[in-house]
Amino acid sequence: MLNEINSGLIIHEIKAIPISFPIAKNNRVQLGIGNSIKNDAVIIKVTTKNGITGWGEAHHGRCPGAIAHLVNTTIKLLIENKNANDIVDIWQKIYHNQLASHGMGTAACLALSGLDLALWDIRGKAIGLPLYKLLGGNKKEVPSYAGGIALGYQEPDQLVEEAKPLIDSGFKALKLRLGQNLKADASRLETVRDYFGDDITLMSDANTAYTLEDVRNIMPILERLNISWLEEPFPPHDYRSYREAKHIGHVPLAAGENHYTRFEFNRLIEDKVVSHLQPDLSKSGGLTEVMRIANLASSWKIPIHPHTSKTALNMAASIHLLSSIDNGGFFEADVSKNNLFRDYLTKEKPYQINDKGMVTALDKPGIGLEVDETFLTEHPVIEGSSYV
Ligand SMILES: [Mg+2]
Repeated sequence: MLNEINSGLIIHEIKAIPISFPIAKNNRVQLGIGNSIKNDAVIIKVTTKNGITGWGEAHHGRCPGAIAHLVNTTIKLLIENKNANDIVDIWQKIYHNQLASHGMGTAACLALSGLDLALWDIRGKAIGLPLYKLLGGNKKEVPSYAGGIALGYQEPDQLVEEAKPLIDSGFKALKLRLGQNLKADASRLETVRDYFGDDITLMSDANTAYTLEDVRNIMPILERLNISWLEEPFPPHDYRSYREAKHIGHVPLAAGENHYTRFEFNRLIEDKVVSHLQPDLSKSGGLTEVMRIANLASSWKIPIHPHTSKTALNMAASIHLLSSIDNGGFFEADVSKNNLFRDYLTKEKPYQINDKGMVTALDKPGIGLEVDETFLTEHPVIEGSSYV
């Protein structure tokens, strides 16, 4: 029977579909990467000869049309007629042809990530198991924090108003955005800590907008307010600043959403600077690679808190991952207002927060979600950057 399943899994078609929707003015969020004006994603659809459809998400990379074009014109040619079950071989082929010889190109890694997720979706569907079971995990409660494109730069009392319903809905952890200026950053952190008290876990994220001096100035405040981590103070390649920042204070650093493949995570780990790793299934090389990164991190006792991309597919897959590794940390729940990709791209929701602030993995085969193809045609790509 397994042979029959396997022989039917020859890849028949690969298609990348870039999608977008504008964000209404009152729902826009200002943060270290700019002002969010639209939401973008690249959906990867892979069908097999025996009629199984796998879905994945590639991060948009601020140019969703380009990522989709790369898949539709180049990457698909590399793996035509391969068996969808040969995930490691396919990963290696794309690595060899697109990544190894011409540098760690971001676009290629994003495309590979979305494709890899679609292949894992097929694998689960072919065998009839949800991803967490396929990966040897079990259904457990995974702690989550309120994150995504939300809780950005705004007056502190407005931030409290945004956070209140999240806490009421069960969240025990929130991530706030830094990088505006020291006074505003500190004021938001202090107001939220004061209002919600010490039982709430607070993380912070500068989205690469800090300098070393900024870190020196904010660190005493982060320490006093018991902030759990300072995420991405600097761009991912600014290794010197990360090394210097390590010695500034006691709040641990987090990073990884802009690091690609185990080769870049290897350096991040060996530099012994970052204490919380945040690979993204739709950016860092897909589930195949993030499992490798998680295992690498496990040997150093470093937790994995996957960064969340834009759609329900990435979100549900992240919970499968967290249910399947021995060093899983927080799930980043995207609490942005009116994210159509989270709420309407698929027929079912990717997760529900319970009253303890926990989520659990879906039980249907594969990622556990089916994409509404009408949604794809109704939300064609809008060219241009997502943030201005
Ligand atoms: Mg971040």
